[in-house]
Amino acid sequence: LLGGSRMNILRVDHVGIAVNNLEETLKFYEDVLGLKCEGTEIVEDQKVKVAFLPVGDTELELLESTCEDGPIAKFIAKNGGRGGIQHVAVRVDDIEKAIEEVKEKGYKMIDEKPRYGAGNAKIAFCHPKGTDGVLLELSERK
Ligand code: ZN
Repeated sequence: LLGGSRMNILRVDHVGIAVNNLEETLKFYEDVLGLKCEGTEIVEDQKVKVAFLPVGDTELELLESTCEDGPIAKFIAKNGGRGGIQHVAVRVDDIEKAIEEVKEKGYKMIDEKPRYGAGNAKIAFCHPKGTDGVLLELSERK
């Protein structure tokens, strides 16, 4: 298990949290925790409205589904109608190389090629089989 990894993980980029109602949930994070939402963004590709809240050198990503059959809507349905932690993202310096290494070492990617996520980041999800159930996102941001 030691060594042998070529990819360079820089930090936990963000924790992705599914919510039923972004406006409503933001009140807790802003009014109680004192975090600042740096604007919201719709990511059509993933059918979500996203809000990023910086916390130190990482962020919380709140995700509200924009339709009834998107990945976040499905996650909430599976979770008994409640929101929850949906994924963890780590920042890599070279996402193409990181994807290659995951595949080369015999693990599956959900996204074989990077796509664009919120904040114009290049992202790709690893298959949760390799992580015993955690949806892990690789993210490259300049
Ligand atoms: Zn994410």
